[in-house]
Amino acid sequence: MKLDQRFVSLVSRRSKGCSSHGCHRDCAAECLVSNTYIQDLKQYISCGQGGKLSAHEIDQRVSHLIGDVYITFDFPYEKREFLRAQCNVPRDELVVERLSYFSTSDPCQPGIGRFNKAGDGLFYATVINSPSGTDDALQTTLQEIRAKDEDEISVLRSSQVDGVDLNLRIIGYGSWVREGKKPGWMQDNVFDYLKMHYNYLDSKLCDNLRKASQNVDDFMASIIAEPESKKLYDVTSSIGRVLMESSSIDGIVYSSTRAADYPVIVLKPNSVDDKIQYDEITVIKIHQKPHQKNFEWW
Ligand SMILES: [Zn+2]
Repeated sequence: MKLDQRFVSLVSRRSKGCSSHGCHRDCAAECLVSNTYIQDLKQYISCGQGGKLSAHEIDQRVSHLIGDVYITFDFPYEKREFLRAQCNVPRDELVVERLSYFSTSDPCQPGIGRFNKAGDGLFYATVINSPSGTDDALQTTLQEIRAKDEDEISVLRSSQVDGVDLNLRIIGYGSWVREGKKPGWMQDNVFDYLKMHYNYLDSKLCDNLRKASQNVDDFMASIIAEPESKKLYDVTSSIGRVLMESSSIDGIVYSSTRAADYPVIVLKPNSVDDKIQYDEITVIKIHQKPHQKNFEWW
């Protein structure tokens, strides 16, 4: 297991001028600015009336927090399969193009989502997390798309092209490591990989920058787990755009908010074109007993 070298050079750039005996720059002031930005964004999300920020002010705060304060790394994902589903698609529209991400030529364009701005078509999918995990992944997928009893569901199964890694961002890794709480879906060796990066980061930053980076990490982990709202999505879609800005990044992996502790993924369209193959489309009918969360299907 080796440290991601881009991460190492990013850490060294960020911590330039810092030392345990005192910093050559005002790291306490930097921490204060990022905490103020976090408070602004939290207030924007939670207050109906207060917390007024323009789209530009949100983007500017998010760019600063993620671009200048938060330090993350590429997480390589290999040999995974994914499920994506839609409710009640007419039979004559059962084609891959209809069930995958919105293409730019589609007359119907996507609204704002957890990680996409209105008009940006991204590929949201559930990860099949083990060889026998298709049923769990389908339960999660149905909850993610808010399926209802008696819906007819079209499911697109796809997989990674052989020998090609997906480079993903992981949100909230620092708070998992600090609290020693590995998400249930994560393999031990992956958690060890996160820990190794976190400990390296921890050893290189001064107290103020460490605190600032932790606060951004905690903030992102907490808002990613919140139920959807327009104001939440104004902020998280901005986070998505900044996290996926680099051409080397394919997307983000995070825990489903509807089926806790199950991995879901969002990918950029060009990454889907280059790294994902579509395997099959199936149509199922679902049934949900009253007051039960889980679905049955046939
Ligand atoms: Zn410092």
